[in-house]
Amino acid sequence: MLDSSQLAAITASPYKKDFPLLANNPDLTFLDSAATSQRPRAVLDAQRRFYETMNANPLRGLYSLSVEATQAIEDARNHIASFIGAVDEAGNPQGNEVVFTRNTSESLNLVARTLGASILKPGDEVVISIMEHHSNLIPWQQVCRQTGAHLVYLRANDDFRITQDEIEEKIGPRAKIVSVTQVSNVLGVENPIRQIADRAHQMGAYMVVDGAQSVPHLKVDVHDLGADLLAFSAHKLGGPMGIGVLWGKADILNAMPPFLTGGEMIDSVTETDAVWAPVPQKFEAGTQDAAGSYAFDADLTYLESIGLDTVERRERLLASYLTQSLAALDFVDVIGPLEGERHVGAVAFNVRGVHPHDVASILDGSKVCIRAGHHCAQPLLAWLGQSSTCRASVAFYNDKEDIDRLVEGLKTVWQVFN
Ligand code: PLP
Repeated sequence: MLDSSQLAAITASPYKKDFPLLANNPDLTFLDSAATSQRPRAVLDAQRRFYETMNANPLRGLYSLSVEATQAIEDARNHIASFIGAVDEAGNPQGNEVVFTRNTSESLNLVARTLGASILKPGDEVVISIMEHHSNLIPWQQVCRQTGAHLVYLRANDDFRITQDEIEEKIGPRAKIVSVTQVSNVLGVENPIRQIADRAHQMGAYMVVDGAQSVPHLKVDVHDLGADLLAFSAHKLGGPMGIGVLWGKADILNAMPPFLTGGEMIDSVTETDAVWAPVPQKFEAGTQDAAGSYAFDADLTYLESIGLDTVERRERLLASYLTQSLAALDFVDVIGPLEGERHVGAVAFNVRGVHPHDVASILDGSKVCIRAGHHCAQPLLAWLGQSSTCRASVAFYNDKEDIDRLVEGLKTVWQVFN
């Protein structure tokens, strides 16, 4: 249970005023940030500033405006690198290890179709977990089908944990790639990535981390995590839609074949052949979303101005209060751990006897936004014995009042059906 000082800390968010959509709609209760977060004014302003003052095709031009647009991308790369701890021993950000994609899905497809397709042989194993979002499942299903490799699942125990025994049993000498989500987008639990990565490396496998639900909420350090590659989306932590990141160790990215081909990703081209540009450009065919990168850079500056420790502490309290409030309703079943501190952002639940879609639409009547459905994680839902659940998720801009309004809305749902 949260004590009174913890409750006071999450009462009346001081951050909503920074988010135009929230500030302009004080009666809206947005509890679907795991799907996409709201964007702070700093991001909207930056996007506009780019087009009003810096707009030119990056990488192509030799004139100042184009050089400035190119610089905006490179600055963003370095900022992202330092945000996720991709720094050298002297603390210099390794921007060359940051590849821009459209989103987490594209980053993971890139890895499966380049690294996966080039190293996997019949009989090899790709290890994922039962908690994967389809974005970290289908690309591996596809590449396994193409190469004759097998997909192996790390399963959670009844307490929603992937144990050390499970890690040692499932990640064996045939494992070539291990790709696991750090935080489940349904259960909100954090997986033991460091333990999984240590075992993967012991077996000579690559460690890929789906950071879509962790980078927005936790201080992620790629080296502490033991990751070789990390994928995430800007739109889940306040950045624009359409910008994703694939971070990878430089030697691994260098050894991977390209993904999409065409302009910008080459060094030289003849009638019959091409030499690839160095990373990260090798993976960035065509015109990049420079405005998006620039706005994402502004987003990270905004988050740092609040303080990442503050963001993480506040989100943990909010997730705890959310779990505790749902668990206190005798007509609601929390799907996942009941310990609030184990939830990172998201809590799945059901209202007994009421279809999640009905719950979400009735809540919408009181302007409470939650998610309902399979959350792009159908194998996990099958394991949970569910075809669909509700999911509420928080970000640091939420407050206790949002969660209280959800609870009131759920009481209405229960009255409608009983
Ligand atoms: N992985 C996880 C854990 C997610 O939660 C999501 C989106 O919800 C994705 C991947 C896919 O992200 P995107 O839709 O930005 O590609």
